[in-house]
This record gives sequence, structure tokens and C-alpha cells, in this order.
Amino acid sequence: MRTRICPFCKEDIHSQALVCRYCTRDLPPPAQQIRKQTSYYWLAAITAAGIIVSGAAFLASEFLRERKNWLTEPPRRPKPQNPPD
Ligand SMILES: [Zn+2]
Repeated sequence: MRTRICPFCKEDIHSQALVCRYCTRDLPPPAQQIRKQTSYYWLAAITAAGIIVSGAAFLASEFLRERKNWLTEPPRRPKPQNPPD
């Protein structure tokens, strides 16, 4: 079970507690934990977006490179097996 320290009586209380069970004072909501979860959410979202963007960029660069090869490649002509005189 997660606990935190009551800022008034310094007792171990539940991390989600809104009222201390020892000194019965109102406690501030665990904002730090909420902010942490939010940052994790953004980190995951940014990571997913980065993977998608880099993957798309990789595919685009590969496609352009292949296309460049197609354009610069000389047309293949079959060699004549019996050259004329
Ligand atoms: Zn307390």
C-alpha cells in the first residue's frame, strides 16, 4: 500500500487520503502524483508520435531513394548475342 507523510503530524497515511486519520486535518490532494501520471501520458503520446513520424520519414526517404535509382538507372537493353558485321 502506498503511503505518504502527513504534513501536519508526520504520520504515515494513505497516499490518496484527503483527511489525515491521526490529526483529522484536511490534506491537499496528491497533486504530485496526478502531475506525474499526466507527464507519463504526454511522454507516451510524444514517443508514439515520434515513432510514427520517424517511421513515415524513413519510408519516404527509402521510397525517394528507390525512385531516384529507377530514374538514374540506364534502360536495360539485351546484348545482341550475334553482333552484326
Ligand atoms: Zn496528520
